[in-house]
Amino acid sequence: MGKVAINIATGSLQTEEIIVGIDLGTTNSLVAIVRKDTARPIALKETDGLALVPSIVHFDEYGNITVGNPARDMLLKQPERTIYSVKRLMGKSYKDVSGHSGFFAYNIIDDDSDALVKIQVGERFYSPIELSSYILKELKKRAEHLLKVNISKAVITVPAYFNDAQRQATRDAGRLAGLDVLRIINEPTAASLAYGIGAKHHEEKTIAVYDLGGGTFDVSILTISNGIFEVLSTNGDTYLGGDDMDNAIVQHWSVQLGITGQADKNLMQQLRMVAEDAKKHLTSNEAFAGEVGGRTVLLTRPEFESLIQPLVNRTITACTNALRDAGVTKEKIDAVVMVGGSTRVPLVKTSVRNFFGREVNDDLNPDEVVALGAAVQADILAGNNAEMLLLDVTPLSLGIETMGGLMDVLIPRNSKIPNRAARQYTTQKDGQSGMRISVFQGERDLVKDNRKLAELNLTGIPGMPAGLPKVEVTFLIDADGILRVSAVELRSGVAQTIEVKPQYGLTDEQVEQMLMDSLTHAKEDIGTRALVEAATEAQQMLDTTGKFIVKYQDQLQPEEVALTKEHMKLLELAIAAQDKDKIQHCTEQLNEISRPYAERVMEGALKDAMKGRKVL
Ligand code: ADP
Ligand code: MG
Repeated sequence: MGKVAINIATGSLQTEEIIVGIDLGTTNSLVAIVRKDTARPIALKETDGLALVPSIVHFDEYGNITVGNPARDMLLKQPERTIYSVKRLMGKSYKDVSGHSGFFAYNIIDDDSDALVKIQVGERFYSPIELSSYILKELKKRAEHLLKVNISKAVITVPAYFNDAQRQATRDAGRLAGLDVLRIINEPTAASLAYGIGAKHHEEKTIAVYDLGGGTFDVSILTISNGIFEVLSTNGDTYLGGDDMDNAIVQHWSVQLGITGQADKNLMQQLRMVAEDAKKHLTSNEAFAGEVGGRTVLLTRPEFESLIQPLVNRTITACTNALRDAGVTKEKIDAVVMVGGSTRVPLVKTSVRNFFGREVNDDLNPDEVVALGAAVQADILAGNNAEMLLLDVTPLSLGIETMGGLMDVLIPRNSKIPNRAARQYTTQKDGQSGMRISVFQGERDLVKDNRKLAELNLTGIPGMPAGLPKVEVTFLIDADGILRVSAVELRSGVAQTIEVKPQYGLTDEQVEQMLMDSLTHAKEDIGTRALVEAATEAQQMLDTTGKFIVKYQDQLQPEEVALTKEHMKLLELAIAAQDKDKIQHCTEQLNEISRPYAERVMEGALKDAMKGRKVL
């Protein structure tokens, strides 16, 4: 018998858990789920329309917090207490945003330029993570109310260009809001899932996702192959969006009405609100008439289009750049997906259509696409959709130990799974018949600081001189996160395979700790890495030189041999002293000394080899 729970909050029976998909947007946020009966994703709706929640938080003097439309209304009245666009600040230090501080009407604290930003409201300071958590809490509360179930698990989307810090911050915001964030997925990936592109096994597609929101624009080129989404490139402008269209209208009207730069803030804000109404109106009408401060404002569709033409052109340039960076031509694009409220603007649609020379996917509501895709992903995670493959990322880098105890990463952290990577290695010693391949997980440069997952011994390599065998090591992570490591010596075909469970036994805290450590020790690691590399190179130099002077001793002058031996000794001492600069210096010297006779000997050998042979 299955478990039945009673939801204390709603008093209803709760039989099944729902994992929601959340589009945590810069301007608006939205929750979607996959309906049990139809198995199709839907965005949550209030009785009066879409449950789109403006991503705005207001704090009153008494510490009360409001989120969404009521907070939006406070933008005018209490700009210093009304926080918008917090997504722009996620995972950012003050230094990162200082160039744009004029953009924010509220107070961003700048006491320590390397620390993460804080926002001051009254006497209190808030981190962007806390602020985002308020938005998420509101979304969770509304969803629980509408669905009449408890919600504790979610998939949240982020832009493809978000770095680790920004993704981690988003995850933390979810956790603070009482949500178990099962997955952070890329917005363009979500959009493509919403349209069901690349959802089936053995499907291969290259698509462009054009996302023009309120304040940001990005275009991503993705390939989808066997359920693996790969972002080939993203391009765009994090300060370009629908707000800029509104501003262009405001500028236009300001000139018409004779309003100067010093106009009062209130009037400008009113103008901005009416400008946005005008823009939306012109999406389905040819002309707009409105009123600001007792005066009439007018705008026609052609006027609007000429105002925003430069903005639209910039997005098209970004499309060209994205294609170039991805190494893909327009003709290779199988589908163009339109995302974001501003893609409703007819000029935007036609420009994108003309640029790619094909119809665009705009059947779904552009406000909903990302949330719908997040819901599809959530449904896959809930195990309801066996048709589709699981998309996941590796929490930590996976690699093997190479010479000198260095970590050689084959699959970097945050790579999508399933995934596959291969690299070739060779032997260090003549006649070496075996190779030990140690698999590690972690971000540090030296394997001793990472976590060992497994070891694989490739034996039976036929005797060959050092450097000749070609051992290809392949990492394959399947959809369940199981890593399979195989090694094959390509010349002989000798092969070996093992299976490892990479994530096993590591808690979220441990993963976090390992990432923290990698940041703390980054400098130190670079130093160690340089030393290890220098020492490894020096050791190889010693080995080959040592062999050379024995093998060709009859062709060398006694002084040459004596000088070489002397410098080999010096280099050995430098290695023992672990002095990187000295090692490099002595390696160079040894190289200088041996080069002339090495060239002489090799040339002689070459001549001998050519004797009596015809050169074609
Ligand atoms: P974000 O991803 O940044 O949260 P959205 O995708 O929600 O943003 O897009 C918000 C933008 O879409 C706003 O600038 C809004 O004015 C614009 N928008 C919404 N509806 C329309 C419409 N009908 N016509 C033109 N622009 C619209
Ligand atoms: Mg968006």
